[in-house]
Amino acid sequence: MADNKSPRPAVEETIIIGSGPAGWTAGLYTARANLNPLLITGNDYGGQVSITYEVENYPGFPEALSGPELVEKMKEQAEKFGLTVEYDHVTEIVIDQHPFVVRTASGKEYKAKSLILCTGARPRYLGVPGEKELTGKGVSYCATCDGFFFRGKELVVVGGGDSAVEEALFLTKFATKVRILHRRDELRASKILRDRAFANEKIEFVWNTVVTAINGGEGASVTGVITKNTITGEVGELKTDGVFVYIGHLPNNDLYHSKLHMDEDGHLITDKKMRTNVAGIFAAGEIQDKVFKQVATSVGQGCAAAMQTEKFLADLDAEGYHGAGVDVREFQEFCSFTPQRAERELVVA
Ligand SMILES: Cc1cc2nc3c(=O)[nH]c(=O)nc-3n(C[C@H](O)[C@H](O)[C@H](O)COP(=O)(O)OP(=O)(O)OC[C@H]3O[C@@H](n4cnc5c(N)ncnc54)[C@H](O)[C@@H]3O)c2cc1C
Repeated sequence: MADNKSPRPAVEETIIIGSGPAGWTAGLYTARANLNPLLITGNDYGGQVSITYEVENYPGFPEALSGPELVEKMKEQAEKFGLTVEYDHVTEIVIDQHPFVVRTASGKEYKAKSLILCTGARPRYLGVPGEKELTGKGVSYCATCDGFFFRGKELVVVGGGDSAVEEALFLTKFATKVRILHRRDELRASKILRDRAFANEKIEFVWNTVVTAINGGEGASVTGVITKNTITGEVGELKTDGVFVYIGHLPNNDLYHSKLHMDEDGHLITDKKMRTNVAGIFAAGEIQDKVFKQVATSVGQGCAAAMQTEKFLADLDAEGYHGAGVDVREFQEFCSFTPQRAERELVVA
C-alpha cells in the first residue's frame, strides 16, 4: 500500500482529473495496482453526485445515502489504498510532448506518463429564482434517479428535445400527469418519441411557454412554477409537485479543445477500452458518455479506464520506454505496440 503523504515523483505514472464517481473509481483501481496515482479534484468537489439529495440506485446501499456521503465513502476507499488527492483545478493539459504536462489554478505543474480524464458534465440550468434552493426538493435533472420519488404526483418537464420527451415518457410510470413545457410550438425530439408522447394520455403539452421562477412550499418542496408565454407575454402559475429540467447537458471539456477528438456535442470520443485518440490518455464517465449518465455507469467506466491505464503503463515498461521530454509524435510511434494504433489519429494543438 502506498503512503499518500510521501513526496510526489518527478514524473507521475498517472494523473486523474476530476473527483466524481468515475475519478474516485479510477483512483481506487490505479492505487490498488500500485501506480501511486494523483487525483486533482476540480472546483466541483465530488462532481454532480455531491449535489444529489439521495442516491437510491447505486448497488450495495439498500438504505440509500446522500450524494455527499457516497463521495466521502469513495474517497476514503481510494485513499486507503494510496490515492493522493489534490484540491485544485486543472487549467491546462499539454499533450504535444511526453510526459504530458498538467497545470493547475494554484500554479502547480505536474508531469505524467498517462492521464485519466474524468471531468464529467453538468446539466444546463434554467437559472431562475427557486431553482437552486429547490434542487433535490422537487427540482431534478435526472428522471432515472428521481422519478421513483414522484409516485402519484403531477410533474412538469421543461424542454423539447429527445431527452425531455424520453424522460417525460419515463416519468409517466410514476406520475399521474406530466406537463411538457416548451418555449416553441413544436418539439425538436425525434418523430418516434413525439408520436409516443402525443399518444400518451398522461402527457400534456404547454406550448410557447418558459419557466421564470419555481415556487416552494413551507416544507421547502416544489409547489408550482411561474410561467410566461413567449408569444403573448402572459404570465401564469402552474401547480406541480416536481420540475424536471432537460434543456441540455454540457460536458466539461474546456481543457480538450483542438487537442482531443470530441463528438458534435463536445464529449470526448473513446473506444471500448476508454482510449482517446492520443496513446496514454484515457477518459471515463460523463465527459465521454452522453447515453447512460449514472453513478453506476460512471464507476464502471472509471474502473475500465484504470485497468487499461495499468496495462498501458506495463506495456510501456515492457517495451523499455525511458523517454522524457520527447515529442508526442515519437511517443505515439513508440506506442505502436498498442492494438488499434492505426485507428488513432494524432491531434496536436
Ligand atoms: C441533481 C443530480 C442528481 C443525480 N442523481 C443521481 C442518482 O440518484 N443516481 C445516479 O446514478 N446518478 C445520478 N446523477 C448522475 C450522476 O451524478 C452522474 O452520472 C455522475 O456524477 C457522473 O460522474 P463523473 O465522474 O463522470 O463526473 P461528474 O460527477 O460530473 O464530476 C466531474 C468532476 O470533474 C471535475 N472537473 C471538471 N473540470 C475540471 C478541471 N478543469 N480540473 C479538475 N477537475 C475538473 C469536477 O470538479 C468534478 O469533480 C445525478 C445527477 C444530477 C445532476
